Amino acid sequence: MKQWTYARIDRVDSSVVHCVFCRRALRSGKVVVLYDDQGQEVYSGPSCAKKTLGDPEVQLIDLSKLALLVVETEPKSPNPAPQRKSKHPRRESEPADAAVEYLRLRVEVMKSFAGNVTKRLSEIHAAMVSSKQLSDDGRQYIQRLLANAAAANTIYSSRNVKSCVGVAYWIGVAIEHTPEPRRDFLQGLLHQLEDRWRLSSGQIEALNRWGAGITVNKMRFPKLDVDAFAGVTAPIFPKGQKRDS
Ligand SMILES: [Zn+2]
Repeated sequence: MKQWTYARIDRVDSSVVHCVFCRRALRSGKVVVLYDDQGQEVYSGPSCAKKTLGDPEVQLIDLSKLALLVVETEPKSPNPAPQRKSKHPRRESEPADAAVEYLRLRVEVMKSFAGNVTKRLSEIHAAMVSSKQLSDDGRQYIQRLLANAAAANTIYSSRNVKSCVGVAYWIGVAIEHTPEPRRDFLQGLLHQLEDRWRLSSGQIEALNRWGAGITVNKMRFPKLDVDAFAGVTAPIFPKGQKRDS
């Protein structure tokens, strides 16, 4: 009898995957990623996962939600009419536990980002994994970090971390749908994002222009919010002082 455990909620845009339980093709949108008893990642439809595993024991990271946070217009609506409602494209519903989600994004999801964890954050995360809950101290530390980052609108804010993950996701999709010899631009963009934790509006515009030439599973590549990183700053660390965010 196989054992499955929850990994995360994700999206598929790049390829067709099949539900491990009912074999149905999952072509686009939200999927549940599970580990099988070999530790391999497999895919499942949300309802099959729930039916087979029940509800997850701990809160899952929902990368499908983060990917959509940076999308300005859904690719399905071919209405170019007066849809200038993009002032507030972020439908950001509060997750069940914002501190846990933030910690898991920094430690588990942003592995390719420069300085994604500090010693303190990785200690808090390790303790959370072993005891299956976030300690009070850890929670306090993260809440303080989040409040400071939000007040100064730095790259470490919850909002910016989500934008980073979302934009990185779409650059990854674009890379997969661009022939290898032409990927340099996208790979350069991804490296900059991973290095600086933000892109300029001009860079996102360029990404959107690139995306306009890409078809993803017969859908248009979504237009990303050019203001996704507007006003975001990097904290300046005096020489010798350690990063503590
Ligand atoms: Zn299924």
